[in-house]
Amino acid sequence: MSNPNHDPTFLALASPPVRTILASCLEGRDLTQAQAATLFRAQGPDLLAIAATADILRQQQVGERVTFVQTRNINFTNICYTDCTFCAFGVPRQHPQAYAMSVEEVVQRAVEARDWGCTEVCMQGGLNPLLGGDIYVRLVRAIKQAVPELHIHAFSPFEIQYASQVQRRPVRDILLELKEAGLGSIPGTAAEILVPEVRQVLTANKLSVQAWVEIIRTAHEIGLPSTATIMYGHIDGPDHWAAHLALIRDIQRDTRGFTEFVPLGFIYQNTRLYASGRARPGPTGRESLLMHAVARLMLGRDIPNIQVSWVKLGLPMAQMLLQAGANDLGGTLHNESISRMAGATYGEYTPPAEFERVILDMGRVPAERDTLYRILHQGPHHFDPARPATMPGGATGTALREEART
Ligand code: SF4
Repeated sequence: MSNPNHDPTFLALASPPVRTILASCLEGRDLTQAQAATLFRAQGPDLLAIAATADILRQQQVGERVTFVQTRNINFTNICYTDCTFCAFGVPRQHPQAYAMSVEEVVQRAVEARDWGCTEVCMQGGLNPLLGGDIYVRLVRAIKQAVPELHIHAFSPFEIQYASQVQRRPVRDILLELKEAGLGSIPGTAAEILVPEVRQVLTANKLSVQAWVEIIRTAHEIGLPSTATIMYGHIDGPDHWAAHLALIRDIQRDTRGFTEFVPLGFIYQNTRLYASGRARPGPTGRESLLMHAVARLMLGRDIPNIQVSWVKLGLPMAQMLLQAGANDLGGTLHNESISRMAGATYGEYTPPAEFERVILDMGRVPAERDTLYRILHQGPHHFDPARPATMPGGATGTALREEART
């Protein structure tokens, strides 16, 4: 394919309404919510024109570098009193597969993560009444004491709201205490779709749009950055996606606290939402392409990092979306459990050498980053064409999978 930068005719692929919108984006104007909804409905050759435009803006905004982070997921408990219909991870306490790790076990996993080369641990869990509302600060303190150099990226706004309710303390106090204990950033998960009618079906609106926004704004205000996410491909559609992106952009223009935007395709297989017949079986390839490309067009000037989730989409699809607006492959994700429980089959770990191989294959520049997008290594650092990728500590993929099951 010719480089659209050098081919002024590539917009001719697009239908007149889409061409007008893309030309406006290339001239540096904001994509409006209504325009985003139009692009999200695109089909046929319009898709190529949208992807090419997103790729041009990606080149202008972040260049040829594709980043990733070495991180270990610690899903410290799957016991949850909430019953979100899209979730196959949380279970009641009586469930035969219910578990809760001790603080010592979590610390042990963090130490292993550091030894494997991780710079971050990402911790999220169910809302487990058996652990008490102070579990979050106890975990952060214990990890920081054992491995002070690890960045702790942890606790969704749902968990922050839960801690606030159980302890009867304001969200700001909870967040300040966690930051003081050593929390580095929070995942902007539990966003799903920030539209009340969708949340009513997904979570019975137990974490409202207003509460999610308040917790994220408060975190940013006190100096705790977060990611921003969207979960798409269930009962949602173009108007919901456009509203969600517009809200994320508004928050970012006020706080500058989002480090990245992460589209998360709905993994449907083991969920009640899909079994009830109400949801689609996850996003199509067209929808995933549009989600990443339109996110670049709408958010790229304010949130330059658009991540593609290999664990949700698979590495081959993730690689293609690096050519449609994305610039980050996310984490190596040792022991990711939440997507796997929902039925994702793309594994729970990708070695950094494999990320670098895929990035080099696209003609781009691999770069290992930390959680806050500071570059640790640029260029191939782990990949050796003469040797296959290896698992950390000599473990095999099977061994890691076995460990994740416990
Ligand atoms: S998404 Fe989170 S809060 Fe909802 S049921 Fe699953 S673990 Fe619980």
